[in-house]
Amino acid sequence: MDTANDSHKGVNTRAEKEVIIIGAGPAGAAAAAWLARAGHAVRVLERSHFPRFSIGESLLPRCMQHLTACGLMPYAAAGGYQPKTGAAFTRRGEHRHIDFRDKFSDGPGTTWQIERADFDQRLIEGAREYGAKVEFGVTVNGFCAAKGNDGPRLTLDDGRELEAAFVLDASGYGRVLARLESLERDPRLEPRVALFGHVHDGIAGLTPPAEGYHRDNILIASHPVHPDVWYWLIPFANGRASLGVVGPRELIEATGDDSENSLNKQQRLWQWVNEEPRLNELLRDATPANAVQSLGGYSADVSRLHGPGYALLGNAGEFLDPVFSSGVTIALESALRAMPLVERELACTDEGQRPDWATEFEQPLRRGINVFREFVTAWYDGRLPEIIYHPDPHLRIRQMISAVLAGYAWDEQNPFVSASHRRLTALATLSASAHDTRQSAARKGKISS
Ligand SMILES: Cc1cc2nc3c(=O)[nH]c(=O)nc-3n(C[C@H](O)[C@H](O)[C@H](O)COP(=O)(O)OP(=O)(O)OC[C@H]3O[C@@H](n4cnc5c(N)ncnc54)[C@H](O)[C@@H]3O)c2cc1C
Repeated sequence: MDTANDSHKGVNTRAEKEVIIIGAGPAGAAAAAWLARAGHAVRVLERSHFPRFSIGESLLPRCMQHLTACGLMPYAAAGGYQPKTGAAFTRRGEHRHIDFRDKFSDGPGTTWQIERADFDQRLIEGAREYGAKVEFGVTVNGFCAAKGNDGPRLTLDDGRELEAAFVLDASGYGRVLARLESLERDPRLEPRVALFGHVHDGIAGLTPPAEGYHRDNILIASHPVHPDVWYWLIPFANGRASLGVVGPRELIEATGDDSENSLNKQQRLWQWVNEEPRLNELLRDATPANAVQSLGGYSADVSRLHGPGYALLGNAGEFLDPVFSSGVTIALESALRAMPLVERELACTDEGQRPDWATEFEQPLRRGINVFREFVTAWYDGRLPEIIYHPDPHLRIRQMISAVLAGYAWDEQNPFVSASHRRLTALATLSASAHDTRQSAARKGKISS
């Protein structure tokens, strides 16, 4: 058995061994940068070779605080990404806009829309410059949790076995420790499928120009007939955009099964796009920029986010749903919350000093994730659309909703964080009854005129 510090084979104290991070996505890169800057020995093991495509291209403003905290902000900013100031919503010809700069919580109100191949590469290069060792093309396929004085051990596909001071699983959809430690549990969200690809969007050259369209917003469109089918359009700075549709598997895959003579993924995506008037109008000159892909069953959860000598970060732990672009924010939040605890793990000399990962990491992290979960649930059960499409929203309430959608889901001062279920349900009920009153007034107006 090699230790992760080859030069100290077999005699390492806990503090001399490396922290090993599985995966070089945003969670892994942020953790690596933070620890390396604090002077710890860190090794990142990444199975692919960068740059590599990844989905998850629209960030939330809360991310900017994370990037600053781990020292990666200058590396990300050098990417010259498309600024993002909010989210636009469209449904059956109705348009709404949430401006993240006008929000209840303190903190940045703007962020970026990024191509992940470039973004992730910049972040991990930043971590490397701070001193983290990064190995690409290495897959972790075995794990043994820490026991007594033995640190956690990893087995790699190249035959190596490494002992670490601590292991951070940031393997995203690889879900390494969830599988190897049997931590997987039902994510309590309906399984859905996404079809997505990049396009040369052609929106800047449209004649007449697209009215009311702003590149600095993600556009979330709802299908005119199927309320549980929605689309994203995420414009980048270079005239390309990410385009996707999400819905129940039986609907999204009903237009083809990839067998001969059926619609391929490209055709299926465009068939869905053609059914939504706003996207149809905006993308009338668009051309594909890469192959359309599909991803299903991406919601995931685990029974716990920590164990002897290890913790799970980002998607390796829990992933909800793409609708509010919360994935990278949660990944970074989890990494930044774990870091002070990892430092205490490295410094501790007796059991009594160990951090309590359940109360100091998992519980507070999950509180914010559960706020997002409530918003995702409210999107699909119709409460949130009722609120978003209210024609005359209360300003303060709008700012509270805006803050959560900007990623400030841990700000307990916000009533839509501290009591998200109760608040969303009550507000949706009020919005629906106001809607009914307006409709019946409109009908009466018609009858009397
Ligand atoms: C359809 C869809 C749309 C989305 N849109 C958005 C969005 O707009 N905004 C947003 O914030 N989020 C979005 N997400 C979520 C986003 O993709 C993830 O939340 C985010 O990438 C998680 O980051 P991470 O660092 O946890 O993992 P990842 O970014 O997945 O990184 C994990 C890394 O681990 C590596 N790895 C895996 N297994 C192993 C192994 N065995 N050994 C070594 N390395 C391994 C992988 O190669 C990968 O590079 C979307 C998700 C889906 C499904």
